[in-house]
Amino acid sequence: ADLRREGLYVVTTRAARFFQDSMWTSQEGQTIGLGYYKERGFRDEVLKKFELGYSPDSWDAFITKALQEGFNEKILEDAGLAIRNDKGKLYDRFRGRVLFPIHSFTGRIIGFGGRTLKTDKKVPKYVNSPESEIYHKSDVLYGLYFAKKAIRDADNCYLVEGYADVLSVHQAGIENVVASSGTSLTTAQIRLIGRFTKNITILYDGDPAGIKASLRGLDMILEEGLNVRVVLFPDGHDPDSYVRKLGSSEFKNYIEKNQKDFILYKTTILLKYAGTDPIKKAGVIREVVESIAKIPDSIKASVFIRECSTLMQIDERALITELNKLKQGKY
Ligand code: ATP
Ligand code: MN
Ligand code: MN
Ligand code: MN
Repeated sequence: ADLRREGLYVVTTRAARFFQDSMWTSQEGQTIGLGYYKERGFRDEVLKKFELGYSPDSWDAFITKALQEGFNEKILEDAGLAIRNDKGKLYDRFRGRVLFPIHSFTGRIIGFGGRTLKTDKKVPKYVNSPESEIYHKSDVLYGLYFAKKAIRDADNCYLVEGYADVLSVHQAGIENVVASSGTSLTTAQIRLIGRFTKNITILYDGDPAGIKASLRGLDMILEEGLNVRVVLFPDGHDPDSYVRKLGSSEFKNYIEKNQKDFILYKTTILLKYAGTDPIKKAGVIREVVESIAKIPDSIKASVFIRECSTLMQIDERALITELNKLKQGKY
């Protein structure tokens, strides 16, 4: 089994080199692939560091090369690089896409995310490697290999949604950044971050989906006993688009000024919808206490109860009663 895993690493590494060569040396790759990245503002250093590439717009460019070099069909399929059609014919999974190799946190290539260059809504924007013996997407954080030292040094980890967000934020000089690309945040991913720091700052997209995901994510992070802060971006922006709009130093200022602890974030978000309706306001308070109830450390929880009480002008004892009910599962 170990040998088989080694074999898979050999093909994914070979594929990453093929996609890089295609991008840097072929006419098509330079014009289309590299051109695309350049247009998005990615510089050569970051493209090379993250080993980004381009898959030619062809049904079999990679597999033809790989089969010639002696890789067999089975391993190409097992690695998720090739797909077999109904007629039993093998073809490339990644065609005419810019490719983001996914590294394990020890730096080995285990899979790929591929972005289409088409604006046609019928084509899926991203195609990701399927699960394999070396790629379990729920256990992987995109960018962790390049971020782990900075995460330790800063004692904080920025969590974003997408590949492009990791690259742009990293390029802006904030290197402690990772994404749970291709899946919603998992407990395994939070524990993985927890090996490097106990502090996570969520930077999700400023759209309804991103806000919803951030509320879910912050509860999961609290449940794992980690500290969580959140930065909200203007609607329609994600960290990648916003850093490009503001430039790196303004972007850093924005994050510094707008990061909120989870209580402040959740009340701000929820109160926006609740307005002044007292019944809705009570609902907001209950939801905030629900998050506090997830914190395993009771001293920490009581600090947040106090903050909530001050912020919402609610008697602290009422909140504690509510918290205890929740903890005893009375709802
Ligand atoms: P871009 O800036 O290149 O348009 P994005 O990262 O902002 O991409 P989002 O739509 O915000 O794209 O999605 C966030 C992440 O979710 C992506 O980076 C990708 O990992 C994943 N994702 C998005 N669309 C798909 C899809 N159709 N299939 C699988 N994963 C997807
Ligand atoms: Mn989005
Ligand atoms: Mn996005
Ligand atoms: Mn984006």
